[in-house]
Amino acid sequence: MDLERHDFQLDELIERIKANDNRLVALQIPEGLKMQALQMMDAIEDKTSAKIILAADPCYGACDLVHDKMSRMGVELVAHMGHSQMNIDSGMPTQFIDVTYDGDPSIDPVLPILAQHRAIAVNRLQAAQQESNLNDEEAQERFLDAVGRVAPLTGSKLGLVGSIQHLHLIFDYKERLEAAGYEVEVPVGGARLSVPGQVLGCNYSGDADDIGHYLFLGSGDFHPIGLVLHTGKPLAMLDPYSGDADEMSFKRIERILRQRFGLIMACDNAQSFGILIGSKPGQMRRTLALRMKRLLEKHGKKGYLLALEHIGPELIDFYPVDAFVNTACPRIAIDDSVRYSKPLITPFELEVALGEKQWETGYQFDEIP
Ligand code: SF4
Repeated sequence: MDLERHDFQLDELIERIKANDNRLVALQIPEGLKMQALQMMDAIEDKTSAKIILAADPCYGACDLVHDKMSRMGVELVAHMGHSQMNIDSGMPTQFIDVTYDGDPSIDPVLPILAQHRAIAVNRLQAAQQESNLNDEEAQERFLDAVGRVAPLTGSKLGLVGSIQHLHLIFDYKERLEAAGYEVEVPVGGARLSVPGQVLGCNYSGDADDIGHYLFLGSGDFHPIGLVLHTGKPLAMLDPYSGDADEMSFKRIERILRQRFGLIMACDNAQSFGILIGSKPGQMRRTLALRMKRLLEKHGKKGYLLALEHIGPELIDFYPVDAFVNTACPRIAIDDSVRYSKPLITPFELEVALGEKQWETGYQFDEIP
């Protein structure tokens, strides 16, 4: 990561610490920036009279705000870096610290991909009018088809999204893409998202029927995989760090769907399930977990509620159940299921396995609203 070109906006935090005369502050930093943590602790301690405690457990999102354990240590303020505010209350005063990257790549490399994707969107828009009754085999085919399953589509606009450190550039890119002939929308999502164009690994709520394809401004494939699984729409990627353009391949999404299909089938005869509840503030879906338990009971099966802060194979594999259904971070089931010795599925997938949801509705991504 090119740290010279990142702006760690510590000034507001330092002013708040001084104004409140805070003496003990916890700093929470994403994994990719932990190497710089001690440097930042020095910078804050040099400019204030506060002592800084690094909350050094893994942190992958604002869903994972440190909470009561820090107040028990006497911490007065939590400084959470690199993620934006969510619709959760951790019970601790929290200052969110933006990190922005000034990388500003040309759109030229991505234009040929966008032209292909717009053509796919226009074709799909026409095909969406012709709905027909599907037999079982066709319904399962639709489930596995990353592109053809999406309906209704009412337009072929380009949706422009990005990860948080690049969103200060999003409206500048909107203008550039409009100048290149695209009708561009910067989606605004629900309460879990705080900035236009923002997407999370568990939330793509800004998606709309008139968006036919996407451009993602950011690096890595974590958000792109989730967005295509959620929407079924073609997605191009422009990496501000390298300037490279690419696309999320439908083959890759179909491989993931095939794996999900296999896990649902593997749960066919499962009689007992561990139902995972995440105890992190922004991942806790108790109501959903209880609904899954009731659903299993309705089908004559057993569900055991297991609450965990961190979830990993070593913490659950040994329970004598046939499978697990995950209501914590949705990406644990989607991205990590191969690490587990038993099937690990999402709540929607359990509903399909029990026959409560139909294949032909297409794959439904497990979104946290
Ligand atoms: S994808 Fe998972 S880690 Fe990321 S914000 Fe959502 S719940 Fe948190």
